[in-house]
Amino acid sequence: MQSTQPENMTDQSTAQWNRSVNENDYMFSQEERSSRNWVLIVAITVAVTAVIVGGAVGGGLGASLANCRQNLGASLSSCQNDLSRRSVESQCENASPTTTNDSLFTATATSSAAFETTTAGLLVNYTVEPPSKVFNVTIDCDALATSMQVTQAQEKFSVYCGVDFGTGSRVDRNGNDVVLADIVRFTSYSMQDCLEACSQYTGKSQLWGVSNSCGSVNFQVSMANNPTGNCWLKNSTVIHSPGAGRCDRCISATKDFVISQGVYDDTIINMAAVPGLPPAYADSTYQTAHEDVFSTPLTETIELVLPPGVSQDDFAQAIEKAVGVLGKDAVFTGDDLKYYIDPYDIPEAGTVKNIPSAAVCPSSVEDLQEFLKVANEYKIAVWTFSRGKNLGYGGPAPRVPGCIALDLHRMNKVVEVNEKFGYVVVEPGVTFGDLYTFCAERKLKLWPSVASLGWGSVVGNTLDRGMGFIPTAVHHENIAGMEVVLANGDVVRTGQYSMTTSPSAHLTKLTFGPTIDGLFLQSNLGIVTKMGIFLTPQPQSYMSCSFDMPEFDDIAAIVDVFGEMRRNGTLPAMVYVFHLNEWAALFGKRSEWWKGEGPIPEWRTKEMQKELDIGNWTVKFGLYGPTTVIQAQYAEVLQVVTEKAPTGRLQYSLFSGEEAGLLEATSVPQPHGGIRVGVPSMWSIPMVNFYNVREDSIGAHGAYSPIVPLEGKVLLGWVKAAKEVYESQGFDLLCDFFMHERYAVFVCMLCFDKTDAEQRVGVEKIFQGLFKEGSARGFAKYRAHIKHMDQNAELFDFNNHAYRRFVETLKDALDPNGILSPGKMGIWPARLRNPEARTV
Ligand SMILES: Cc1cc2nc3c(=O)[nH]c(=O)nc-3n(C[C@H](O)[C@H](O)[C@H](O)COP(=O)(O)OP(=O)(O)OC[C@H]3O[C@@H](n4cnc5c(N)ncnc54)[C@H](O)[C@@H]3O)c2cc1C
Repeated sequence: MQSTQPENMTDQSTAQWNRSVNENDYMFSQEERSSRNWVLIVAITVAVTAVIVGGAVGGGLGASLANCRQNLGASLSSCQNDLSRRSVESQCENASPTTTNDSLFTATATSSAAFETTTAGLLVNYTVEPPSKVFNVTIDCDALATSMQVTQAQEKFSVYCGVDFGTGSRVDRNGNDVVLADIVRFTSYSMQDCLEACSQYTGKSQLWGVSNSCGSVNFQVSMANNPTGNCWLKNSTVIHSPGAGRCDRCISATKDFVISQGVYDDTIINMAAVPGLPPAYADSTYQTAHEDVFSTPLTETIELVLPPGVSQDDFAQAIEKAVGVLGKDAVFTGDDLKYYIDPYDIPEAGTVKNIPSAAVCPSSVEDLQEFLKVANEYKIAVWTFSRGKNLGYGGPAPRVPGCIALDLHRMNKVVEVNEKFGYVVVEPGVTFGDLYTFCAERKLKLWPSVASLGWGSVVGNTLDRGMGFIPTAVHHENIAGMEVVLANGDVVRTGQYSMTTSPSAHLTKLTFGPTIDGLFLQSNLGIVTKMGIFLTPQPQSYMSCSFDMPEFDDIAAIVDVFGEMRRNGTLPAMVYVFHLNEWAALFGKRSEWWKGEGPIPEWRTKEMQKELDIGNWTVKFGLYGPTTVIQAQYAEVLQVVTEKAPTGRLQYSLFSGEEAGLLEATSVPQPHGGIRVGVPSMWSIPMVNFYNVREDSIGAHGAYSPIVPLEGKVLLGWVKAAKEVYESQGFDLLCDFFMHERYAVFVCMLCFDKTDAEQRVGVEKIFQGLFKEGSARGFAKYRAHIKHMDQNAELFDFNNHAYRRFVETLKDALDPNGILSPGKMGIWPARLRNPEARTV
């Protein structure tokens, strides 16, 4: 057993940050793909055919129409980037022996002018040339691939140029292993007809109650060479692996998301004068981070989605009224909605994109009340959040597409502060960063608890039962007195705050009668507009402690030994434990730690332990208070771990205020300070980039975060099972946990590169694997992503879901129009309880 005061780790940390990254070995980068000026352009012997094909195409499929000679120039220039010049020329040579002979083309082309036309210009008695005479159809594949192609049945397809999905073992859009097979092959003069046929096949099957469906197609531009058909319908969607199935004359497309909502035409909304979104943060660090995250959403275009059950006209009227009550600079639609989608979305986790129809930013309770009148009048559901940084759980995105994003960040006042009793009353928009600055500027003897990212809101994080690291870390347990606006605009206060004159409004949760604060946590029963919350008194001293153990199985000893000290009061504040992979993720991408195939092997893990100077598991905890008290606490910890976990290493660093005064938080250096003394930052955000493989990769994360009893053998069994699940997909166990007295909130981080479909499928598979393992053990998540809320809620099944029935009874009484955050934590208003009602 060692007990040491270590040297400052900053130098080492910096060295890790500065490692060079080799990101050049990715097979087929996004950049390469987008820079390829991909044009499948070849000869077409009959110009008229092209005209007809073009006429049929229209809509989203912008096929370009031209003959071989017209397109040859373009194709030749694109050859330099992509297609082999020779192959394109030879295709044209096959089509006509002398490709440079103008007269030959003129001679074989038939002009549409040769046909009789109606007054509307439609061709009469037109005869289509047989496929055997059409060497190639011309398609501008680049144009098709830049956006999803939408069929008349409102199915969307992603297009891949120069790709044949082929047949055989594949992974479908939901991450399932499938055998991809052809359903039928037929002749199609255009890509759009091929896609329409796919949609039709599915639609007609559904109509007759048959579960067959078409998920993807392959289209070949060559008709003459494919006498039995150049369009193949296939039985499944496909995750396309870059580089796979190269075929120069092929275009493949796979069905993406079924649009389940009505889309609206934004020309009906007169938003022309709206100036667009102003910065969300005054602090440039957070604003920059905000832009970074939301400016690169996976969704390329924002669908203009209507709220469920609301017509286009009603929606337009409602938006006009919202502008009337909030002002035109507080209502947003169109491209501005990119700030209101889930930047960490896993499209493969569901068929619906969670996009709002509009966003509104009220600045006061009165604004909010007025807006709720509009929402009630038109029965338009809203999705409430404070700062919308609930990343990993959906961010600001609504559970139901088409809800209006109710963004409360402009209600951002610190309403009251009480230094002696250590509380503040804040509005929803107050961030951890704002609150810290507020206290620091006034030199208040208070340390606010902060989550590991300072851009989140105190209210939003607390309502979603988020956590920090100092004595008031369990934020929701420190609420005292809230103000809530109900769906009908009524304003309610809780606890002693419900007495207009109580001097104890924010000193206690005590209520005369039932305590109702909990009804508004992770809830859709009201909108919290003020929250009283306790802060940690600025201590005289802080001892930064860490304890690490070398072996994977040591987690059992850690849990039992530290769990006991949590319960008996030796360790009154949060104890945070992490696996070494997660610590490594903070200091470098995975490729910097391990370049081999598959999960990081055990031998490399041992090396990493040394390089990072940590254990396989490491415990970080702080002791806060008078110096003599924390010294006594430390002595007790030392004695306990020496006896019960002798292979571990305990380290500490003590920081005290000058001249026995109080400790200045910013005087504590890293890695001991920061969030562990209530100073906010964005320090943990790089973790999400762990699996990034290229320069243009975009890191993201999800989480499976169950509540687990604080028992060593239970935690060990759980983490072994979790490790297997991660490794089954080639990922590494990435986890940490917050030790409360009797339970752990065990966070399985699911970092992934959101530009990589295989990784997205992999993390969703891991999530479902962990969910299955956890549920089998009786665990449930403490928080959930919007796409997993119903799934987690389903676990609370006692007495045929009596809990859900109880809350839904309240929901129907308090929110009869079902306008507040439908589906939050699996609670649905009556009108949207049937899933079909959630679509237009
Ligand atoms: C790298 C990384 C590290 C993270 N570390 C932590 C951490 O240490 N601790 C932690 O807890 N989380 C952590 N998170 C998760 C998340 O970022 C934070 O919890 C964040 O504070 C939540 O965002 P927010 O505060 O803006 O809440 P919001 O997004 O505003 O709100 C969260 C939810 O609460 C509800 N809500 C919000 N405001 C209201 C309101 N006024 N009335 C009614 N309901 C409301 C809504 O359902 C909303 O979806 C981390 C995330 C990442 C990516």
